[in-house]
Amino acid sequence: MVIFKKISDLQNHLLKLRATGSRRVGFVPTMGALHAGHISLINRARANGDITVASIFVNPTQFNDRSDFDKYPSSIEDDISLLAEEGCDVLLLPSEEEVYPEGEQKMQSYGFGYLDGILEGAHRPGHFKGVGQVVARLLDIVNPDFVYVGQKDFQQCIVIRNLISLLGKENEISLTVCPTIREADGLAMSSRNRRLTEPQRALAGLIYQCLVSIQAKQMDSSFKIVQKECMDLLEEKGFLPEYVSLADAADLSLLEEYDKSKKMVALIAAKLGDVRLIDNMVIN
Ligand code: AMP
Repeated sequence: MVIFKKISDLQNHLLKLRATGSRRVGFVPTMGALHAGHISLINRARANGDITVASIFVNPTQFNDRSDFDKYPSSIEDDISLLAEEGCDVLLLPSEEEVYPEGEQKMQSYGFGYLDGILEGAHRPGHFKGVGQVVARLLDIVNPDFVYVGQKDFQQCIVIRNLISLLGKENEISLTVCPTIREADGLAMSSRNRRLTEPQRALAGLIYQCLVSIQAKQMDSSFKIVQKECMDLLEEKGFLPEYVSLADAADLSLLEEYDKSKKMVALIAAKLGDVRLIDNMVIN
């Protein structure tokens, strides 16, 4: 695996690689503290035969909560070993100055309309503005043919799909959404899980259980009732639930009730101590 800190070096390398063969570039953007969820995206790119490019950059502009940014886990040496072992071809490890040479403020930003005001958009003001900035910049740098993202961040997947359209790159870039990789108790793998204490970790699988119960009860219950049960249960066990919601999986328009004519997605965000966890499940 070749590691680049300088964007121009990465770009020269990719130009040479592209010139020597017909392989296309598959890109996996990450914020590091890698786990099996990230690696599943690398494997997907490799299985597709791509020149596999990963990036690790903890983007400050997408953190609405400064302490979440400050405490974001980092394990760069382990990440490098893991990516090399898994056959990743290229790793971009840029500094903030490389990504935002003229400062964050000068970066073009993108609006995602309705998506900015619901769920993650509502609970993390400015988050998708930051995601849009960094993803647009990284796409410009890497110029990939394929981008691989995780369903774990369901709303982010739709935001990135919209961003690719806003950039007019929908014919150049193919976006692949990969399934959520989970721990044995159902907890969605996340870099933030490392910050859970042992007792918190023992509780964290409850989010998945709530999603399973939302799915299981769609035939014979009202979503409003199941939603309240989940909120109450999470609270009772010591979570601070932010939302337990149901939406149309196609465009994330929120649903008050189960609508069996639609492919739906249930989404949950809840804090355990100061660790914020999100998860979702496509139902129906
Ligand atoms: P992050 O490092 O959290 O920004 O995530 C980088 C990419 O990995 C994003 O596309 C995430 O959706 C994806 N990802 C994170 N966790 C998982 C998981 N448990 N399963 C599959 N993909 C994931």
